[in-house]
Amino acid sequence: MTDRSRLTELATRRGFYFPAAEAYGGVAGFYTYGPLGAALKRNIEDAWRERFLTREGHMEVDGPTVMPEPVFEASGHLDTFDDMMIECPDCGESHRADHLVEAATDIEDAEAFGTERVADLIADHDVACPNCGASLADASVSEFNLMFGTNIGPGSAAPGYLRPETAQAIFVEFPRLAEYARNQLPFGVGQIGKAYRNEISPRRGIIRVREFTQAELELFVDPESEVDGSDPDADPDLAAVANVPLTLYPIDEQRAEGNEYVETTVAQAVSEGLIGEPWIAYYLGIAAEWYERIGIDMDRFRYRQHLPGELSHYASECWDAEAELGGNWVEITGFATRGSYDLSRHADFSGESMTIFEPYDEPQKIERPAVDPDMSFLGPEFGERAPAVVEALEERAASDPEAFDGEAIEIDVDGETCAIPVAVTGFDVIEETVAGEHVTPEVIEPSFGIDRVFAAVFEHAVRRDVVEGKERTYLELAPEVAPTFVGVFPLMDKEGLGERAREIASSLRERGLTAQYDDSGSIGRRYRRQDEVGTPVCLTVDYETLEGDTVTLRDRDSATQIRVPAPPDEPGALGRLLADLRAGATSFDALAAEYDDGTVVGDGGTDEGTDGDDNTVEGADGRSGSEHGDESTDGGNERDDASGD
Ligand code: AMP
Repeated sequence: MTDRSRLTELATRRGFYFPAAEAYGGVAGFYTYGPLGAALKRNIEDAWRERFLTREGHMEVDGPTVMPEPVFEASGHLDTFDDMMIECPDCGESHRADHLVEAATDIEDAEAFGTERVADLIADHDVACPNCGASLADASVSEFNLMFGTNIGPGSAAPGYLRPETAQAIFVEFPRLAEYARNQLPFGVGQIGKAYRNEISPRRGIIRVREFTQAELELFVDPESEVDGSDPDADPDLAAVANVPLTLYPIDEQRAEGNEYVETTVAQAVSEGLIGEPWIAYYLGIAAEWYERIGIDMDRFRYRQHLPGELSHYASECWDAEAELGGNWVEITGFATRGSYDLSRHADFSGESMTIFEPYDEPQKIERPAVDPDMSFLGPEFGERAPAVVEALEERAASDPEAFDGEAIEIDVDGETCAIPVAVTGFDVIEETVAGEHVTPEVIEPSFGIDRVFAAVFEHAVRRDVVEGKERTYLELAPEVAPTFVGVFPLMDKEGLGERAREIASSLRERGLTAQYDDSGSIGRRYRRQDEVGTPVCLTVDYETLEGDTVTLRDRDSATQIRVPAPPDEPGALGRLLADLRAGATSFDALAAEYDDGTVVGDGGTDEGTDGDDNTVEGADGRSGSEHGDESTDGGNERDDASGD
């Protein structure tokens, strides 16, 4: 069994995640998170919310997942959210054509090429179908739009789409959100929710699926404000992340022979110009700290800069957080500058203003070219078209005032060129006092894929060691994200032990701690069950609990145990102690030092006989069918490159 299939098996058997609707044969690209997985995922989302919204003072919204077609015409998804597809002439399986090229060559950004070039490369390298091995040399490559379409209401009059990213549900609400932010830039709006992409070839479990969860933050900034640290309300707090270490893989290094990473800090990367946009540098800094906090192995992590061919046309700079998973680099988060593209497009298509009015410090006098046409001339001359003539003259005065220098001016009205005597246009340069200006904000976007962050946390947590001469596999999950925080066991379910353990479990739950009561099998077996799913602490109720008011706490990672007080007349004490442990306000070592009465023991200490419960990861029924493409081999690294996003 490979490490990867072991993880898939563990995920299925213990209820982290599994292919959805298997009773009906399953459907590729859809997964269900079981009880433990749903808890782990929710804890990751809560940790994201705490760090990227609450602590930053940003707002959170929850928009619909289905939106009408015009939204996606404006966003560009309808025209350009495509991936390149090739269909095997033999088995009929579809594949990402650019991924096949990247796997067969050392080309890293094949999606930047056109379909013809990708088809040529597939033919030149005689690429075979990863499913059946047939040659794809003669198969054609086409663009495939990744959006799921639907109809809103009965009939087909109102087409809609499942959103391919959560961001659009924020952009379309900009006018209201700006009001809630009291029209002050910068302001941030986040959203955690589902996104849908009809991936050509979903694969690798939850890494490339058709329905997934994104946590996106859209930061709206003033396009004209210089980030120079002079305005604490407007500038990113770079000092707070100055010394955060970063492993960067910039464009130059990706193109160089050695493919080296640059080990640097946020401050150094900004001062050396490795990262251009200070807000991006700030987010790379806080995200690096956050990934480490939730348990991602920073030795298997890098920030890779987008190559020019990968950049969306509106983006000036983009970095991906990538985690090494199963030997491949997988994009888990994108950090992008989106410019004013989204708001400008939605303003154009919807006719709504998507700007912020920024008052000047002092009202300013400006000179403005303007027209005041003589309607007694234009009316009889142009009839119904007179208003269009006025509009064209106004536009021309603003964009090309010199055109009014001659005797007549030529303008286009409904496709016809008309000459208007300048004398009747009332052209003049007038002086006005203005209080401020309307600006279209620019957007900085960290876009986290929660399922992939989950996959990285899960895979990076796997540890193997030997406890009391027996091999064990456990998940070293951070207490903040572990699905269960504490396993509560009575030594046996008799003589009042079970009752006391149940009481303790429910008092811990009342405190908001996730506690799982378990009285089946030996204590050793119960420890291993919790180790396998990453429960940081186990608590055992034994005879001393009844006599001396103490319980044992057993640390998952070191497998050592200590006795701590559990006075029945003060049920909150144990809860406080464990809540501190979960929050990192105390540690197992600190507790061991505080309560050291010589009772620190190994795994068998309170056991009635550990019963040969060795590495429990293998051996159960892991039902991951090839339909779900878990072990698919078509290409290595995972990037999400549908153009236009
Ligand atoms: P993108 O908008 O393509 O930059 O995607 C943002 C994030 O969403 C990525 O960094 C991924 O973590 C996640 N993501 C994109 N596509 C998928 C997918 N098909 N399955 C799971 N996660 C995805």
